[in-house]
Amino acid sequence: MNSRRKFIKYMSALGTVSLIPTTLISCSDNRPGNEVKAMSNTNFVREIPLMEEYDVIVCGGGPSGTVAALAAKREGLKVLLVEGLGQLGGMATSGHVSHWLGGRTQEGEWVVQGLFKTIAEEAAKKGYAVIPSLSPNKDYHPYGWYNWFIHGIPLDPFSIDYFLDEKMGEAGVDVLLFTYFVDTVVEGDRITQVILYNRSGLFAVPTKAVIDATGNAEVAYRSNCETMKGRKEDGKMTPTSLVFHAYNVNEQELTQAIEKNRDPKFRDLIRQLREIGEWTFPYDIFICTRLPAKGEFYINTCRLVGIDGTDGRSVSEGMKRGREETHQLMSLFQKYFPGFKNARIKSVASQLGVRETRRIIGDYVMTVEDLKNDKVFDDCIGFSMYGWDLPDPNKPSVQPFADDEKTGFKQTVQKGLTTPLPFRIMIPKTIKNLICPGRAVSVEGQVLGPVRVMAPCMAMGEAAGIATKQVVMGNASFTNIDIEGLRARLKEAGAIIDREQLPVIYPRVDQI
Ligand SMILES: Cc1cc2nc3c(=O)[nH]c(=O)nc-3n(C[C@H](O)[C@H](O)[C@H](O)COP(=O)(O)OP(=O)(O)OC[C@H]3O[C@@H](n4cnc5c(N)ncnc54)[C@H](O)[C@@H]3O)c2cc1C
Repeated sequence: MNSRRKFIKYMSALGTVSLIPTTLISCSDNRPGNEVKAMSNTNFVREIPLMEEYDVIVCGGGPSGTVAALAAKREGLKVLLVEGLGQLGGMATSGHVSHWLGGRTQEGEWVVQGLFKTIAEEAAKKGYAVIPSLSPNKDYHPYGWYNWFIHGIPLDPFSIDYFLDEKMGEAGVDVLLFTYFVDTVVEGDRITQVILYNRSGLFAVPTKAVIDATGNAEVAYRSNCETMKGRKEDGKMTPTSLVFHAYNVNEQELTQAIEKNRDPKFRDLIRQLREIGEWTFPYDIFICTRLPAKGEFYINTCRLVGIDGTDGRSVSEGMKRGREETHQLMSLFQKYFPGFKNARIKSVASQLGVRETRRIIGDYVMTVEDLKNDKVFDDCIGFSMYGWDLPDPNKPSVQPFADDEKTGFKQTVQKGLTTPLPFRIMIPKTIKNLICPGRAVSVEGQVLGPVRVMAPCMAMGEAAGIATKQVVMGNASFTNIDIEGLRARLKEAGAIIDREQLPVIYPRVDQI
């Protein structure tokens, strides 16, 4: 699939030009699917410093990467975590999607336990997050409005990043912020070095294993593993969003209006605004969730159609369009939306919210049919408690799979309510010491709906981190680790990995 002509030559230059060991990289990258619109190609050759070796390098410090790093360190490995931006937490912090979903039932029972539950509970205890519970007398609550959303955990991104710094420090994970994964050195079927870039320049780090938690299968792609992107029929991906936080919202006024109109998405108001030419966006829903501080809300309304999260220019355009729409939206909210008259923008995400890009193609691709048939996986490492939320690439307010009647998924206790997470969906083909937890897993497009949210991403990260020990210690492959050993270790760490351990799951008390 990937026909990149890449040539990387390793040279330990100790005792030659410098006292620092160096490695020589020579890279020409012209494969199809590489999104740079090239005039022609150039060959880049550079001798770069070679740093000390790690057992595992985790690329990407989002939900899956941070938890993978903590889990690997807990197994006694020497771990380097690299994050391209200045904060750990990924979409929850720098993406401002400050609501960990998919880890609890609407009754507040934990479906994802292990490190996710520990982190959420500790963060809540420190006041950095809130663990809401259902109030029997209320139809709507500001932590997501619909009763079903009480399973989510709203958080303050500017405390969670600090909290995660502390967690890494206590655990002894080496963290490099503002450090980009660039490429890999592959020898045979193993990655032996990872090429990184930060303000010190390019450098290489030898490693025994790599956890690709970039969300975009960046490491897998650069290592020539097979990947896929977008819908089968036309390659189109679900829209991106730029998320912002607002403060000074009059919560009482907003809540009263929602209770009166019984529509937290304000569809009717938006329709009226469209009729008078005020609302010109291609989406028709308003989505807000209260954050830990009173009067502060996370706003996830804008939907940017046609942005490719793996194309540098497209992401840049998306960010600019998103910022423009953020300001336009806020003016409309202030003018027309109950409770927003005196509200202001508190902060805008520093990274674009990308729901879908590349996914690895592993030996196994989990399908919608698997979930319809309630397939049981003997390598299950956790569950997602989330639904079919993946907006249509062209119709951003429509979720093609959300209607259970249409898709054949009934809201029953048995099916469609929890999604199993088999270990095998994290394993790319060809490279033996690479694993990809998070939203770039080997699944059919629509399966991303339930698996991409953050609690299941953390469950995958924890399993990936634990499994890495076997690969590092035995010089083994992620494809043939002792699964029962991994599952036993996960159970010991408190994770739910079997259906029988799940709390009773009732159909939703409300429809969204
Ligand atoms: C608009 C939007 C709304 C959403 N709403 C919710 C919600 O309310 N609740 C929920 O639970 N989920 C939500 N999701 C889904 C969820 O946020 C993501 O699917 C999830 O964060 C994926 O986790 P991850 O660890 O795979 O990747 P990410 O969270 O994307 O983390 C990847 C990290 O890797 C870093 N990175 C990427 N490339 C490199 C590189 N080359 N070098 C170094 N670092 C790199 C990134 O900077 C990032 O920090 C939403 C997603 C979007 C886009």
